[in-house]
Amino acid sequence: MVDFKNIIAKSKLYNFHSHTQFCDGHAAMEDFVKEAVSEGFTDYGFSPHSPIPFKSSCNMSKEAVNDYIAEYKRLKQLYGEKVNLYLSMEIDYLGDQWGASNEYFDSLPLDYRISSVHFIPSFVDNKMYIDIDGNFPAFVQKMKLYFNDDIRAVVESFYNQSLKMIEAGGFDIIGHFDKIGHNASHFKNGIEEEDWYRLLFKQLFEAIMDNHLIIEINTKAYVEHNRFFPNLKYFDMLKKSGAILLINSDAHRPSLINSGRFEAMRFLDLD
Ligand SMILES: [Zn+2]
Ligand SMILES: [Zn+2]
Repeated sequence: MVDFKNIIAKSKLYNFHSHTQFCDGHAAMEDFVKEAVSEGFTDYGFSPHSPIPFKSSCNMSKEAVNDYIAEYKRLKQLYGEKVNLYLSMEIDYLGDQWGASNEYFDSLPLDYRISSVHFIPSFVDNKMYIDIDGNFPAFVQKMKLYFNDDIRAVVESFYNQSLKMIEAGGFDIIGHFDKIGHNASHFKNGIEEEDWYRLLFKQLFEAIMDNHLIIEINTKAYVEHNRFFPNLKYFDMLKKSGAILLINSDAHRPSLINSGRFEAMRFLDLD
């Protein structure tokens, strides 16, 4: 297991969450490594969206996994003295059928594992998993098509999936753990302040702490949408929690490997 605690005690320039040509990223792995080296990063981890048991344009295919591992090894040979590189995946949790605890992932030489919820079952056909992580206009369409415009039930489903994901285990880092709050609060202003929402957040946070998971502060949307995952309003609580907090930019382009990092550090009094 990677010693995250030690790494972040010594370095402010690291990123353990990024997407490349192997999933929905917009550049080759090598371009991210070159950028990391030129920015003086100490540690850089790759986390393509894992294979899942149905077709998805965002996820890597099982067939591509060997190529991904081979490319990682090549880059480690080439750049390993300049930056510590890590092989990982951002693994989707899809209920009992698929997740980080699936034995498939034990067969891969991953240095650490991120687990995230991007899909929840449709209310119209619960065998269909719908990506609720995308941009807001797409989310609005899906709300109508698959979720009867019932935003509270969608939020509840997201948090329940997240709790079940923790129960199933098999991962180190929980990815962007209140991400649904972003689309949900655009759909219904103020939803995150409602009592039932706060209770769901609290339950999930307690489960994260009870299971000693590493918490990611995901900075991907900060510059464009002024939003961290988890939300800035929880940062005081996170600071006091004693959990390991990793600041990850979830970059899909090399130019964004630092996006939002220093702002998050400032809010966390780490600068
Ligand atoms: Zn994600
Ligand atoms: Zn990601």
